[in-house]
Amino acid sequence: MNYDNSLTFAQQLDQNDPLRHFRERFHIPQRDGKPLTYLCGNSLGLQPKSARATLKQELTTWQHLGVEGWFDKPESGEQPWLGYHITCKEALSEIVGAEPSEVCPMNALTVNLHLLLASFYRPAGKKIKILTIKGDFPSDQYALETHIKHRGLSVDDVLVEIAPHPDDNLIHTTDIQRAIIEQADSLALIWLSGLNYYTGQVYNMATLAETAQRHCIPIGFDLAHAIGNISLRMHDWGVDFATWCSYKYLNGGPGAVSGVFIHQKHHEQNLPRLAGWWGYREDRRFDMTPGFLPAPGADGWQVSTPNILALALHRAAISITAEAGMTALRQKSEHLTGYLEYLLTPFNDILILTPDDPNQRGCQLSLLVRKQGKSLFNYLTEQGIIGDWREPDCIRLAPTPLYNTFEDVWRVGAVLARFFQQ
Ligand SMILES: *Cc1c(COP(=O)(O)O)cnc(C)c1O
Repeated sequence: MNYDNSLTFAQQLDQNDPLRHFRERFHIPQRDGKPLTYLCGNSLGLQPKSARATLKQELTTWQHLGVEGWFDKPESGEQPWLGYHITCKEALSEIVGAEPSEVCPMNALTVNLHLLLASFYRPAGKKIKILTIKGDFPSDQYALETHIKHRGLSVDDVLVEIAPHPDDNLIHTTDIQRAIIEQADSLALIWLSGLNYYTGQVYNMATLAETAQRHCIPIGFDLAHAIGNISLRMHDWGVDFATWCSYKYLNGGPGAVSGVFIHQKHHEQNLPRLAGWWGYREDRRFDMTPGFLPAPGADGWQVSTPNILALALHRAAISITAEAGMTALRQKSEHLTGYLEYLLTPFNDILILTPDDPNQRGCQLSLLVRKQGKSLFNYLTEQGIIGDWREPDCIRLAPTPLYNTFEDVWRVGAVLARFFQQ
């Protein structure tokens, strides 16, 4: 695409954008009565306008039905709370690329990671190691570290960490593959992000899952930054398990409900797990008998009574993403991010850490700024452009296809031009 840096060009792209009406379905934060340029959906997605009504509906059900809300259909004819999570499955499975039985919304991301490690990390004999990425998101690191200690093993003996390549500071798929092949005899698990939160890099999940399967090593992905951002085919790729959060690109609200993916190939295996009554067979759950019998599929990993208010927000949000469709969203996203990249190119002080190949990134660009990174970030914020700052030296900007415009992206270029002229 031949871009140009005029405002009329950006506005023309917006007019031709088939997804442009989705912006109206979100509350865009304002300052002094003017909408902010919100490029921070990688951290907290914006509030869908439908969120309030959906939440109110469940408050009303609670108000009128009390405990009967679990079983009775309220006046609206909506799903009773029992089985409410099932109403999220169709949209979730489309977004993740899975069968409905393979996904279940529940808990929070790091909690789910612990539950999944309990099932999929099964060290035995020589096979005790976990392969992961060095310097990945701290919560994942803490989960792995404490989980390993919990099993009475030592982190030094277990963790195999792939470091970024010194040439470009990115993780190379070939480096991960080589490590898998070289250490296949001692690896019990592979745990990777689908999309690196810091660099914005997408790993080749299909290739890595294929390599892992060939060596019979379970592989799981943290999809926190991938879900709702890039096209995913968890089932077809043969990924064993995954988890994500829904407050980033899925717009489920602060601390929104997470979810898990568990591949069909594991559904009949009765894997060990940390169980609770909500993962019990639904038809017998209220028999209250001892001895855990898991519900079929991903539902059998539920532990506690679901937070219905959080699920209502979750459902409102994912239904918008599913309605837009990941194929269309991704198509727009490549253009939005491509345009941002084009507008950044003239500024020699800005180094884009994220790969330039659209197949190796989502919507986010991570920028390293020579010398004055923090002051540039502060200037952007002052000028109404909301990105985020990652220590020690990185500005992340994430134009999201559901509610950002080409004009939003254009404004970044205009503000940068002012900054570097000063
Ligand atoms: C955002 C994010 C988390 C957050 O975990 P919570 O349990 O939801 O607080 C974890 N891991 C990664 C990779 C993330 O990007």
